[in-house]
Amino acid sequence: MRVIFLDLDKTLIGDDYSPEPAERIMGRLKEAGFEIVFNSSKTRAEQEYYRKALGVEGPFIVENGSAVFIPKGYFPFEINTPKEEDGYQVIELGERYRVIKEALDEISAEFGLKYYGNSTVEEVMRFTGLPERLAELAMRRDYSETVFSWRKSGFEAELAGRGLRVSRGSRFITITGDTDKGKAAELLLNLYSKLGGVESYAVGDAPNDFPLFDVVEHAYILGALTHPGAKNISSIDELLEVVL
Ligand code: MG
Repeated sequence: MRVIFLDLDKTLIGDDYSPEPAERIMGRLKEAGFEIVFNSSKTRAEQEYYRKALGVEGPFIVENGSAVFIPKGYFPFEINTPKEEDGYQVIELGERYRVIKEALDEISAEFGLKYYGNSTVEEVMRFTGLPERLAELAMRRDYSETVFSWRKSGFEAELAGRGLRVSRGSRFITITGDTDKGKAAELLLNLYSKLGGVESYAVGDAPNDFPLFDVVEHAYILGALTHPGAKNISSIDELLEVVL
């Protein structure tokens, strides 16, 4: 079985946030028998929008490795999971949103921080370029925050000192508990491996994808950054050439 982890922002989804350009790629990967797993900083609500638009039905990883959502009954064996929610089994690796927001609220005046939790929907639309409907889905946060802008540097160290992880995505800085995309992917790969042999793939574009590249056999990076375990590709179309 071939499992491919896909980043969304600036990997599968471009600057206009439309799912349509990804349809052909998803179709080709599905035809080739890939298990497709979104692994993104995006929230569950945002990912559900893209899953529906692109016909993706398996497990997915939300908010930068903070939780793995597995549709109930997807794996034909028991999963030790502490939580069931809306037809999913949820394995939580990250921190509660409330804890992260409180840490940011305490230092936001000093560093001049703007993030989902202290922004209006109009501000979120301005910072992110998201249309209103998707901005609202992005604001339904369970495990992480996204810092859009700051007046003074040093807040990263301040948050790290409070035990939180600070990582750079394609556009912004994400604050989570002690987890990353790689930790969540590894957990899910262990579940897939109970079904038989697994060949693992990942595609991303930003430093927050690097921990993911570390846990798969075939990693591809879009754009100019480099990672010792990942091959650079110039477009998502090139991915099809190298993996199919
Ligand atoms: Mg990205």
